[in-house]
Amino acid sequence: MAESGPRPIVPTLESLGLARERPLVIVDVDEVLGLFMKGFGGFVAERGYELRFDRFALFQNLYRPGEMEHLEVTEGRKLFDEFFRSGCGELEPAPGAVEALARLKPKAEILILSNAPASAERLRGDWLRRHGLPHTLILSSGPKGPITAGLTAQCSGKTAFIDDLLSNLDSVADHSPRTARFQHVADPRLRALAPRSDAHPRIDDWAQLGEAIERAIS
Ligand SMILES: [Mg+2]
Repeated sequence: MAESGPRPIVPTLESLGLARERPLVIVDVDEVLGLFMKGFGGFVAERGYELRFDRFALFQNLYRPGEMEHLEVTEGRKLFDEFFRSGCGELEPAPGAVEALARLKPKAEILILSNAPASAERLRGDWLRRHGLPHTLILSSGPKGPITAGLTAQCSGKTAFIDDLLSNLDSVADHSPRTARFQHVADPRLRALAPRSDAHPRIDDWAQLGEAIERAIS
């Protein structure tokens, strides 16, 4: 069932520079277009911490070197906020992502929907443009179903949604059930750890994913 909660403020597609009559592809950034764990791992290492790949989680994977207990979540959150304020412009693009979106661009509107703090807006937007991803960016928070539903409701074309997290994919299934959903986990170290679901195809190769998105919106 759809979770309750405040309705998001949904911008009009016109205000985002997107056409209503074309298909719409909504894409996540961290672990979909960009190698977040790799970038964040490097960022925390420079500050004397370790990001381990013990489970599909974030704050529970942050350690002081040599320790067995993960860092306090409040400490982890500070590092996370600092990364989005000053370090998120250094991510590596996920292999094949830029090329796949370039191939989709003539066939669909592309909107990047990233759950990141507002302080990341300039660095994240610059990062996207610098890597050949000059698409509209929305920074959001919480499950992505409600805002996705508000956006896809404005479209007369088919729609697709790509994310690494089942919580977001499930939320979109609840709120915008006609939107095609795909799970993608960019970092090879996370793939075995990341939960998957029969409800959403999982495609970790961007070349194959691009083709599947194209079929879904045609
Ligand atoms: Mg993500």
